[in-house]
Order: sequence, then C-alpha cells, then structure tokens
Amino acid sequence: MASVTIKNVRKNYGTLEVVHGIDLAIEDGAFVVLLGPSGCGKSTLLRMIAGLETVTSGDIDIAGRRVNDVHPKDRNIAMVFQNYALYAHMKVRDNMSFSLRLAKRPQAEIDEKVQWAAKILNLQPYLDRYPRELSGGQRQRVAMGRAIVRNPAVFLFDEPLSNLDAKLRVQMRTEIKELHERLKTTTVYVTHDQIEAMTMADRIVILRDGNIEQQGTPLEVYDKPANLFVAEFIGSPSMNLLPGEVAAGGFRLADGALLPLPAAHRARPGQKVVYGIRPEHLVLGGGARASVNVVEPTGPEMHIYAELAGQEICVITQERVALSRGAAIDVSPRLDRVHLFDAESGKALV
Ligand code: ADP
Ligand code: MG
Repeated sequence: MASVTIKNVRKNYGTLEVVHGIDLAIEDGAFVVLLGPSGCGKSTLLRMIAGLETVTSGDIDIAGRRVNDVHPKDRNIAMVFQNYALYAHMKVRDNMSFSLRLAKRPQAEIDEKVQWAAKILNLQPYLDRYPRELSGGQRQRVAMGRAIVRNPAVFLFDEPLSNLDAKLRVQMRTEIKELHERLKTTTVYVTHDQIEAMTMADRIVILRDGNIEQQGTPLEVYDKPANLFVAEFIGSPSMNLLPGEVAAGGFRLADGALLPLPAAHRARPGQKVVYGIRPEHLVLGGGARASVNVVEPTGPEMHIYAELAGQEICVITQERVALSRGAAIDVSPRLDRVHLFDAESGKALV
C-alpha cells in the first residue's frame, strides 16, 4: 500500500493546458474518487498517476518516491478501464495470470494467486471460459482479478462501471467497495456519476475544467458545497437554486415573494444571492406558493416539480400526495438546511 501525492501538476496537449496545477494528497489505504463532468481532466490526471501520460510540470509521488520518470510497469500500480481490455483469445485464468507470467513468477505462486483472486471475486466457475462467454459484470470482475493478483500498491479505476446496466452497476459498486474494505489498497477511482462517488468514496475530489472545486467526505460535500457548481453537481434531483436578493424580511425572490433566511448568514442587505435548498429540505405547508407541473412517484418518495417565482423547483415528500398539474402548494424551507451563494462569484455564504 502507498500514499499518492500530486504537487502542482499541469498537463498540456500542444499549447492547450487541460490540467491547471493540481495539488492532492491521497492517504495510504484511502478510497478517493475523482468526480466531474466529461472533459474536466479526470482521465488525464489518472493516466498521469499511472504513467500513461507524461506530466508537463509538477511532481507525482507514489509511496514517497517521485515517479514522473518511472515507467508504468515499475510504478507498482494496476489500472482497470471502462472497456475491461481483456485478451479475447485467453481464458479467464490466463487473463488473470498474464502479468505474473510476464514477470516469470513460479507456477505454484501463479496458481495460488489466481485461485485467491477467483475466490474473492466469485470467478471460480469461470476460470476456463473465454471473455466472450461471460456477462459484462463477470468481465469487469476478471479485469479486477487481473489487477489484484499483482498485489499493487495503488489501484486506479477509470469509469469501470459505465458499460454495465443500472442494476449491475449498483451491485458492482458494492463489490468494489467490499474489495477495498478487504484489501485496503489505496484506490483512485474516476467517475462522472455523483451517486457512484457518494456511495463509494472515503473522499471525493470534485474537478471542473482542470481545477479542483472542492474535496471532502461525501457528506461534507453534500451538506456544505463550497460553491454553486458543487451544489448543483452533487445530489439528484439537484438542489433548488433560486436567484434573488437579501431584503429586510428575508430572501426576496424575483416575483417579490419572501423566503425565510437563517439567523446567522453572512450576506449583506441588498446583496444579490442564490438561495439553495435541497428538494428533501422543502416541506409542504406555509411559506411560499408554488404551482404544480408534474408529480413523479419513485416508490419510497414523491418528487413534486412545481413553479415558484417563474422557476421550476423540486420538492421531495414521503407522503402519497395526489396533485395534478396547476394545483397550488405551499412550501417552506428547513431553515437549518438553507444555503446561500454570492450570485457573482458563486461562492457559498453560509
Ligand atoms: P475526462 O476524463 O474528465 O472526461 P479527459 O481527461 O479525458 O477528461 O480530457 C480532459 C481534456 O483534455 C478534454 O478537454 C479533452 O478533450 C482533452 N484531451 C484529452 N486527451 C487529449 C489528447 N490526447 N490530445 C488533446 N486533447 C486531449
Ligand atoms: Mg475520462
């Protein structure tokens, strides 16, 4: 196992800089998720850790050793990709043992390692099959098996579940998390899926356009987003974000209606702000009037989409409400769950 330290790392493709000086400390044994929209630089950063891309400037250390100029195979890392990258002409057993055979390990050790990995990953019945004879989830497990037999210091995952259907994705999420609980190998996991990040990570690092926007535990970034980008990106349905201004009696919406403000906020009177409230923190009754657009039952909850001050908001309730389009509802925010962001900078004020 090993820590990974990224110091002021930049990446240029030609004259275009796509990673702008990233600092990141990943502790030994941690499960860190790099999360962000497509194109924000997640894969580039991961591939620089792996040694598959050069570092334009800055340093990457693995286990205290600078690896900028170390060949990928000498970094003691194993990478798992979205497309599994299995050898089609090799059986599962040979796919899994490939790197050990390449390293000329003794046959007894190879057999032992493959058996061990196959047991952990429930692949024992499939060792003599070819990849084409496996389901997507099984193929992904073989790719993980190939990574764990090497007993690397660091696992690197690049969107490993994106090719799986929704149900299998949820199952594999748990399996990867359990694997980490068991092996405690330092893991850097890239995804654009915020639910994957929330459910799997010890720490989430949110990237946007080659910069870190915020990092913290899943609940830290959910409960205290540092800016509008993070507020909107984490959580589904998204946080309601209402533009308006701070007035004497509270927060004034575009149509003049007022929403209450928490007692201790840092906004100035008259300041243009964005009022943030998650759908589950809006309660039915009192407060401001909204007009229902559509109601989506999910089973455990009802998601009510309604118009408030000319903007669509979402309210989540566990009550089995029967509301049709155009019905009037009153909504009040839970005051201890209100977020305020400066309208200009997007930075959090409470
Ligand atoms: P992500 O994995 O977050 O979707 P990437 O790290 O793949 O993003 O890409 C980050 C940015 O770098 C994108 O704007 C992408 O177009 C650009 N990029 C990635 N690889 C190359 C390359 N080989 N040449 C030029 N630009 C690239
Ligand atoms: Mg990518």
